[in-house]
Amino acid sequence: MTITRAQFDEVMVPNYAPSAVIPVKGEGSHVWDQAGKQYIDFAGGIAVNCLGHCHPALVGALKEQGEKLWHVANVMANEPAIRLAQKLVNATFADKVYFANSGAEANEAALKLARRWALDNYGAQKSQIIAFNKGFHGRTFFTVTVGGQAAYSDGFGPKPGDVVHADYNDLESFAKIISDDTCAVMLEPLQGEGGVVSPTAEFIAGVRELCDKHNALLIFDEVQTGVGRTGDLYAYQGLGVTPDILSTAKALGGGFPIGAMLTTTEIAKHLKIGTHGSTYGGNPLACAVAEAAFDTVNTQEVLDGVKQKEALFRELLGEINEKYNVFSEVRGKGLLLGLVVNENYKGRARDFMVAAVEQGLMALVAGVDVVRFTPSLVIPEADIREGMARFEKAVASVVNG
Ligand SMILES: *Cc1c(COP(=O)(O)O)cnc(C)c1O
Repeated sequence: MTITRAQFDEVMVPNYAPSAVIPVKGEGSHVWDQAGKQYIDFAGGIAVNCLGHCHPALVGALKEQGEKLWHVANVMANEPAIRLAQKLVNATFADKVYFANSGAEANEAALKLARRWALDNYGAQKSQIIAFNKGFHGRTFFTVTVGGQAAYSDGFGPKPGDVVHADYNDLESFAKIISDDTCAVMLEPLQGEGGVVSPTAEFIAGVRELCDKHNALLIFDEVQTGVGRTGDLYAYQGLGVTPDILSTAKALGGGFPIGAMLTTTEIAKHLKIGTHGSTYGGNPLACAVAEAAFDTVNTQEVLDGVKQKEALFRELLGEINEKYNVFSEVRGKGLLLGLVVNENYKGRARDFMVAAVEQGLMALVAGVDVVRFTPSLVIPEADIREGMARFEKAVASVVNG
């Protein structure tokens, strides 16, 4: 059976609008579509493919575990899950790990845990969750409600209650809302979907301080920033502010679905036996692949490499912008970069992304004004240069209409 893009519209629920091409093969930072056209991948499956496509360490782990044990359900422990949890604990502030299958599920667990913790320790009145406008935390009903984009959460009837939003990087607006009835504060330590916005040092430290003052838990959603993306293993480590709960997914599996929630022993104890769970969460196959991804990324060489590659991206983007003057700034950190289009191209970030595909480059947007790059953390310099050459052609084609 020949598969075409047209069939997508026939058999799929219409919630996505994928581009006209269908990728069929990937290797490193190269992808090929059905017609054999080759692309350089600066999208990385939205910050998921942290080691590119079909990295030998991940393929090896998948094959090895695939021939051993795929699934046993959480009525029994399994070796890969325990090994991965131990490594996450060793490398972070956390003492305990809960495994899920996605970012939304990791966040769902974080929010449910925070509510339990507050209820057990302080009583029912401490249920308020504060999050931030333009934040993104996933698409379950709880997480999308906590996310700061009404367009994603409206239209589904009554929402989970006691969730309020402040403006990101606006400590004053946040300080006005938080109180002793605040149960938890959830934020991305660098907003991804919301336009690639870094927190100010003052904001992030101030939020931590006010959480401590009001006995509220601070939850960092590191689904997009985690596992090396910003040049630190987790973004909080580069900010010098430690959360109480952290969620991680996307790059954690390097392309295999997995998510995790990390926290301390004191907080974790409120998720008692039977209070939460997942059939597939922590399955051996996902954990084996994630362990290989984690081992490969969590080295000084790879993390330093992210910073060096960021510098090269910024240098080449500066050269393109000097010629074409299309971006007002390049935001973000490490290999989570947001190119903000200037006044002349307002609302047209998507045009650059579409033009890039034409030129053989996969890129992303973050809202209507930001072109986003989230390539492999180990993308070779030659691929960065080739991808940027293609991007320059894409920019030229948009500029020249
Ligand atoms: C992608 C993302 C999520 C959702 O992850 P899924 O795996 O799609 O459920 C949550 N939070 C952030 C910050 C994300 O970037």
